[in-house]
Amino acid sequence: MLKTLKFLAIILALGLVLPAHGIIPVKNATAKDWNRLSFWYAPWGKSGVHKGIDIFAKLGTPVISSTSGLVIYTGHIEMGGNVVVVLGPKWRIYYYSHLDGIHIKTFDWATSGKGIGTVGDSGNAAGKPPHLHYSVMSLVPYPWKLSAQTQGWKKMFFMNPAESFG
Ligand SMILES: [Zn+2]
Repeated sequence: MLKTLKFLAIILALGLVLPAHGIIPVKNATAKDWNRLSFWYAPWGKSGVHKGIDIFAKLGTPVISSTSGLVIYTGHIEMGGNVVVVLGPKWRIYYYSHLDGIHIKTFDWATSGKGIGTVGDSGNAAGKPPHLHYSVMSLVPYPWKLSAQTQGWKKMFFMNPAESFG
């Protein structure tokens, strides 16, 4: 019980204390390495809308954590391939997918700028140029972001990751 409370206190604290702006999560990448129109691009495969950005880089390029936070999932899923999921500032979920290698474990602490894996083409990126698919989801809805676009209500939860870099 005490452990659970402690854990919850950490989760609450990290949402409030950590700086909310992130860094570009691929080593040496710049804004030229993704298409800024790709966020919310539709139609987009099985998911209908592209809820993140794809940062292109050579296979094996280090993927670095955009923010500090708690790693809540690492593993392999069908569409995302090898993924790392971090709970970070403002109770947002930071999602890194199509990784080649995963270099961090569930419940580890991710540190902003530190390696968590490498760029790959796993999951439904197979056969495409290696890239990091990066999404930022808010657990707290932002109702004013709701839009009339395809699946526009989900914009209450999915942030444009590029807007958090700074
Ligand atoms: Zn993508």
